[in-house]
Amino acid sequence: MDAATLFSSDYATARQRFREAALSLNCELESHSIDQRGPGGEDLAIDVAIAPGARPGRVLVISSGIHGVEGFLGSAVQLGMLREWAGRTPSLPSVRCVLLHALNPFGFAWRRRFNEANVDLNRNLLLEGESFSGSPRLYRALDGLLNPKRVPSRWEPLTLKFLLAIARYGMPALKESVAAGQYDYPCGLFYGGDRPSRTSEILSRHFERWLADSRQVMHLDFHTGLGARANCKLLIDYPLDDAQRERLGLWFGPDSFECVGSHEVGYPVRGSFGRWCTVRNRGRDYLYAAAEFGTYRPTQVLAGLRAENQAQHWGQPEDRLTECAKQRLVELFCPQSAIWRTKVLEHGVQLVHQAIDGLAGEASHQS
Ligand SMILES: [Zn+2]
Repeated sequence: MDAATLFSSDYATARQRFREAALSLNCELESHSIDQRGPGGEDLAIDVAIAPGARPGRVLVISSGIHGVEGFLGSAVQLGMLREWAGRTPSLPSVRCVLLHALNPFGFAWRRRFNEANVDLNRNLLLEGESFSGSPRLYRALDGLLNPKRVPSRWEPLTLKFLLAIARYGMPALKESVAAGQYDYPCGLFYGGDRPSRTSEILSRHFERWLADSRQVMHLDFHTGLGARANCKLLIDYPLDDAQRERLGLWFGPDSFECVGSHEVGYPVRGSFGRWCTVRNRGRDYLYAAAEFGTYRPTQVLAGLRAENQAQHWGQPEDRLTECAKQRLVELFCPQSAIWRTKVLEHGVQLVHQAIDGLAGEASHQS
C-alpha cells in the first residue's frame, strides 16, 4: 500500500476520494452536512460509507477526524481500505464495516483540532446528567499561559514557560488538567462547548441505525499527536471487562493497548467519544479504542495548538502568521516525513485487518 498516494493534501481532496472509492465499491454512502463552508467555499460534511457484510451481527466502526486536523491519517487508512477491497474478489469484507469520515469536517478543512465553535468534539459528547460547565482547577491557573489573548509571537520564550509549569505542577497533573477538557473558556484550548455540537446531533440521530442489528462492535477511532513518534497505542477510557481485555490482547497484541488511568500515554477526559459509544450501546458488546499515533513531543504539540488557537481568535485569516501556525499544526499532527507516513499507515491498515479477522473469527467460532 503506497502511503504517499493515500494521504490527501486537504479535507476537500480527502472527502472527494473517500466518496469516489466508496461509490465504486457499491458501499452505502451517506452525507451529513454541518452547514458550514470550507476555505474553497465547499460544503462541509461527515460522510459515512457502509459495507453491509455477510455477518451483520458483527460490526467494525472505523472513524476519522473527530479532532479535525488529525483526520489526515484516519482518512488515509479509510481510503487505503476501500481501495484494497476494490482490488480483490470478493471485494467487501465479511463483517459489516461502518466508515465515518471527518467527524469534525470544519477542523479538518480549516486545519484546526477544534470545530467552528472552538469545541473539542472529543470533550463534547457528555453523558446524560453531565453538564457543560466546570474546569479542572489547574486549568484556571494556566489559562493565561495556555490562551493568551493576542496573536502568536515567535520571540516568546515558550519552552521555558512550559518547563517552569512542568517543574511547578508535574507532568501527570498538567496532562490531566490541561487536556482533560474544560467548559468555562470558550476561546481556550480543549473547550468542550456549552451544548451538543452538530456532530453530536448527527451521531445521536444516526449511530443506532448505522450499527444495524449488531451485537458485537469493534470501533477504531483514529487520532494522531500523542505518544512516541510513529508508535501506536490503543487507548481505552472506560472500564473493560475481562473478556474484552483478553480480546484486545488476542487481536492486536498484549502490549497494543493501554487503559487510561495508568497514565503512560493517555489521560481521562469528560465528553469522550469512547465513553459515549459504550454507554449508549450497553445492550451490545461494544469495544472502542482510540488508535493514537505519536508525532512530536507533547510540549511541541501543545505549543502548536496554542499558536494556531491564538491565530484563529486574534489574528486575521489572510495573515502570514496565521498561515504559518496552520501549516505548523498540520506538520505536528501529520508529519510530511515519508518514513512516518509509511509506518503509521501500515500500522493503521494492520489494525483494521486484525479487527476484521478477529470479528470474523469469533463469528465462525461461535456459530
Ligand atoms: Zn485526537
